[in-house]
Amino acid sequence: MKIQFLGATQEVTGSCFLVKTDSMQILVDCGMFQGVEVEHLNYEEFAFNPREINCVFLTHSHLDHCGLLPKLYKEGFRGKVYMTPPTRAIIEFMLLDSAKVQELRFRESREGKKYKGWTLLDGDLAESSIKWPIYDTTDVLGLLELCTTEKFGEEFENNGIQAKFLRAGHALGAASVLLVVEGKRFIFSGDLGNPRSRLDSVLNFPRKAEYIVMESLYGGRFHEDRTLTEEKFLKVINKTLSRGGNIIIPSFTYQRSQEILFLLKSLTEKGNISRDVRVFLDSPLAINITGVYKKYFKYLNPKVVRKYKSGESIFYSPNFVFAEDSKASKRIRKRRGSIIVAGHGMCAGGRIVYHLRDNLDDRRSSIVFVGFQAPGTLGREIIDGKKEVLIEDKKVRVKAEIVKLYGFSAHADHEGLLNWLSHTDKKDVKQVFLVHGEEETSRNLKESLEKDGYSAIIPEWKEEYEV
Ligand SMILES: [Zn+2]
Repeated sequence: MKIQFLGATQEVTGSCFLVKTDSMQILVDCGMFQGVEVEHLNYEEFAFNPREINCVFLTHSHLDHCGLLPKLYKEGFRGKVYMTPPTRAIIEFMLLDSAKVQELRFRESREGKKYKGWTLLDGDLAESSIKWPIYDTTDVLGLLELCTTEKFGEEFENNGIQAKFLRAGHALGAASVLLVVEGKRFIFSGDLGNPRSRLDSVLNFPRKAEYIVMESLYGGRFHEDRTLTEEKFLKVINKTLSRGGNIIIPSFTYQRSQEILFLLKSLTEKGNISRDVRVFLDSPLAINITGVYKKYFKYLNPKVVRKYKSGESIFYSPNFVFAEDSKASKRIRKRRGSIIVAGHGMCAGGRIVYHLRDNLDDRRSSIVFVGFQAPGTLGREIIDGKKEVLIEDKKVRVKAEIVKLYGFSAHADHEGLLNWLSHTDKKDVKQVFLVHGEEETSRNLKESLEKDGYSAIIPEWKEEYEV
């Protein structure tokens, strides 16, 4: 039996792992490569024949884990895709939105326009997006027909392969996958959560596994204390409001927007933020996904479930406004003294771009970054301290206060990663494979694991191992 690493190798995006036996080929995740240096890989042929894949196990709905599933369908895959019920609900919105982005890029590049998302679009990608969209809405709809849901903790089977989803605590529906293939036990961690998250902090730990494929995003790194981050967050909000500015929060549509919204609700309930301050969620995709959080709120942190009793109340506050259509979004832009949460999280497109255009040159406003900004994005240019940026071909001076808050990560830090692994019976573990990290962070974790007596490998792209 072999395992092959087809993404998230010595980098963070494109999670895709292939397990091959004489009679079966299965995938865990089929993610999109994100970022200027790797995006062109999304246009390359798969390293396997999609028609020969028997089934897919999906860990969660972030595009770097699920974003190429419609391409798999487009190229002939017709097996089952297993996931948890909230993941099924979320990928529908994520993938339909992603298809819209592919279609738009294709149209615009045919019309000779440069795609507005990435500020530094790399030549390879510009050319390939002229040739074809990676997939379209029809492919997404076809793929959704193949999706099958399984609850956390319940065993299920496909052609003799036993499987189980464990809670990964990273976002609503996010799972680690336990697989037993021809008697060999594998655990794929997926993205592991930050136990300090307010909404998604419940983790299940695998007890027995021989082969562990584990994320390593924060190997060797430790998160800033969450309480401190929340204190800084509140301070910048009140300081900005007192000088009459807006607080602009670029936020990822799934997980981070909900986490920030819930924090804003808690701060309003406690009286730390005045009820007169309007809080806007300005992203149709984030609004839809917040709807899924409401529907599946029983999957969230039990403390939250006990306190609020219904999904509706988790995100409700009289001063919250969800801007569903573009008219509502435009109305927000005329106001001052508001808190605006908008996507895209790295400012690579979406409604956040308009809020940045209206606020970056206003000394009273603050732009508060609560997540990672990849190189090549507008968000990265701003946090790197550029004094002037280009937004839709217009120069905008950066005068607003720029604030970076690192403690909101949805990932386990070094300590969290070690803690997750420590629950597995060490004597059974034959090999740990470290993925989903940059070279340095994976190496940090590898060193720690080897000191603890594990055998750890950082696979290269397309490398395969006999297991
Ligand atoms: Zn994720």
